[in-house]
Amino acid sequence: MNITGKKISIIGAVRSGLGAAKLAKKLGAKPFVSDSSDKEKLSDAVMVLESENIEYEIGLHSEKVYECDFIITSPGVPSNSAVLTNALNKGIKIISELEFASWFCNGKILAITGTNGKTTTTSLCAYTLNKAGYKCYEAGNIGLAFSEIVLNIKEDEYVALETSSFQLDYVDSFSPFISVILNITPDHLDRYENSVAKYAASKLNIAKNQNIYQYYVCNFNDSEIPALSNEAVNKFHFSLTENLANGAFIKNGRFMFSNNYVVEDVCSLETLSIKGSHNQQNALAVLAIAKIVGCSNESIADAFTKFPGVEHRLEFVRELNGIEYINDSKATNVDSVWYALQSFDKPIYLILGGKDKGNDYNRIKELVIKHVLKIFAIGSSADKINDFFNAVVPVEIKKDLRDCVLSAHKEAQPNTILLLSPACASFDMFENYEHRGKVFKEEIMKMK
Ligand code: ADP
Repeated sequence: MNITGKKISIIGAVRSGLGAAKLAKKLGAKPFVSDSSDKEKLSDAVMVLESENIEYEIGLHSEKVYECDFIITSPGVPSNSAVLTNALNKGIKIISELEFASWFCNGKILAITGTNGKTTTTSLCAYTLNKAGYKCYEAGNIGLAFSEIVLNIKEDEYVALETSSFQLDYVDSFSPFISVILNITPDHLDRYENSVAKYAASKLNIAKNQNIYQYYVCNFNDSEIPALSNEAVNKFHFSLTENLANGAFIKNGRFMFSNNYVVEDVCSLETLSIKGSHNQQNALAVLAIAKIVGCSNESIADAFTKFPGVEHRLEFVRELNGIEYINDSKATNVDSVWYALQSFDKPIYLILGGKDKGNDYNRIKELVIKHVLKIFAIGSSADKINDFFNAVVPVEIKKDLRDCVLSAHKEAQPNTILLLSPACASFDMFENYEHRGKVFKEEIMKMK
């Protein structure tokens, strides 16, 4: 793809927009970056744009945006925003940053999407391939933007790409070597006209252009994943429960892989360092990728054993006086909490709350009754949580995370867990979920 001299408008001046702009400039195009946010918020971006000598406008989208050969949009920009709608009405081609970077990728792309588990799976995927002696980068929603690293990737190398549905809204020719859909549950519906079907259709874009030399892996047990109409691509599944003819599954406590009915016993379920059946599903997806790539069973087992996990996802923080402290700050929806609750055998003190996204707590009610001794409710949704749960389990509204940690320390019996798995966004009290997790861990580490 030759983009020399092309005029490219880039909407959004954060991570992926900046990455795309730098890549476009490096390849001889004329990028113009436009972001409607305040200048103060984007001071770091402005520094980058100035030092790279890239044209930009901040605080508005002017008519100049439409004077271009095509537009690259960032995942943070809603597809129904005025700037994109206007561009479409004018007949201007729009592509996502992921699509743009993929044009210049010499290596093989392993693209992973799903409502939950993307970061964990992408990280375990890169870890497993690297352990098996391949070179595998990780990028996308995780770490660096794809555009930032794409030119480093050589022909015999791989990149595990964490892919959000927003990155898949505008794809044209994106065609990864392996695509994965982990699961689909209602989330981000505000961006898809409240339609699960539209959200699911966007996820399916990951595989629509794949060819006979490429592979599509999806969750056999997830009925929300629509059937893929692409007949060309090689299809594999993964499943916790079914023996598959093509795919990764669990049988008698072992990770198995089957290719056209030829079944291999790869390793014991016990080898997997990360807890919970959700992580077993993530590992199955990685197992399928690793076997397609050609990793040995021994190297897969070794990687599964040694994988350190990802920060803020069921992260073990400390054990003190027999109480285990677990940070699952990334659990920003009810489904994640459902998985967190069935990952432990011990009774749980559960911290719930934050900015509510329209949560329906019926999904976790039974598990709460079964596993939770008490709920500590925080943040702007504390009253809603109290109203919903206080008939079935004791609920205490707490001022902040410090208050929760101190209460657990004071009243919890040994052999219990304090779990932060809040089911809510963090923006009412924190900058983001990482900040929330960090504060939680600091409070835990302060205790004597
Ligand atoms: P994502 O990048 O898709 O947000 P993460 O790996 O960061 O996914 O995990 C986010 C949250 O979802 C964590 O609380 C984690 O425990 C939970 N989770 C991880 N994998 C799955 C899965 N396969 N199904 C449901 N929940 C999951």
